[in-house]
Amino acid sequence: MKLNEIEKYYFLRTNISDLPPKIKEDDVAICCPICREGKSWNRKQRLHYYWDDYLKKPNVKCFNCGFSGSLKTYLKAVNPSLYEEYMIEARKEYLEKLKNKNKTENKKEKKFILFEIPEEFKKIDGTKAEKYLQKRGLIKFKDLFFYCDKNITINDKQIMTKDSIIIPFLKNDKMYGFQSRKIEEKKFYTYLPNHGLKVWNIFNVDWNKSVFIFESVFDALSSGLPLNRIVANLGITFPQDLLDKLKYPIFCLDNQNFDEASRMQSLKYIDNYHVFIWPKIYEGESVFAKDFNELIQNGWSKEMIKNMILNNIYKGFKGKLKLKLI
Ligand SMILES: [Zn+2]
Repeated sequence: MKLNEIEKYYFLRTNISDLPPKIKEDDVAICCPICREGKSWNRKQRLHYYWDDYLKKPNVKCFNCGFSGSLKTYLKAVNPSLYEEYMIEARKEYLEKLKNKNKTENKKEKKFILFEIPEEFKKIDGTKAEKYLQKRGLIKFKDLFFYCDKNITINDKQIMTKDSIIIPFLKNDKMYGFQSRKIEEKKFYTYLPNHGLKVWNIFNVDWNKSVFIFESVFDALSSGLPLNRIVANLGITFPQDLLDKLKYPIFCLDNQNFDEASRMQSLKYIDNYHVFIWPKIYEGESVFAKDFNELIQNGWSKEMIKNMILNNIYKGFKGKLKLKLI
């Protein structure tokens, strides 16, 4: 068993004899400053700092005077100022260990789950999903989705993917989750096994540029903004650790004029982040939609939506005022 290196160092510093210490891996010996080795001072080293198999810990013991105790007890007895110094070092070491322990534990907790694309997920072509995307004005993005005609099971969990559009959450070519939307009824199901990460497209955006945060994938894709600038958060709040990493996050929530929850969320963010605030009228058109995809369904072009977003971004007091007056 190995000795503690810090304890060993402090033990050696108590050597006041001219005799050099005897050093083995689990046993260090010096002249005992307590009893001065009887009459054999500077001739024998009978005070040991060693691993005690019986106590199952390091111990300090003199085989002349019989002193026995922990390094702490020993230092306190022979050199109080060295004892103080040792205690500070020991505390530092303890805190360092604690930090590392927390680090490994956090890592364990946050093990990121990635899985292969299930074979039941098919290309959209020629399915009823194609028609549906057409209706939602998103046919251009059909390669971003899958179609699934049956329910599937992952890790003993059945997921209601029958007759649904599948929105994959991808990192490289693997999935960290997905959302499915029934084609014939407005029902969503999600499989997002990574707790805390319910953000679509987050691995495909440039974290150093402006990133627009939407409430749904269809809204994000309706914005007319480039794919490498949009994400959609399906969780309740956007994860703070991610928010800290994005250089220019911009919240694009549902229409604050129709949705009080969205207005409250926007108010929460507007002190520290940029938020798109829905105007009531834009370029002579009345903006009568609860979200971005509805604008598409009302006949708006993606270009017009994009410009509306870019022209109505606020932060701080001015935005707050606007939100409260809405
Ligand atoms: Zn002694």
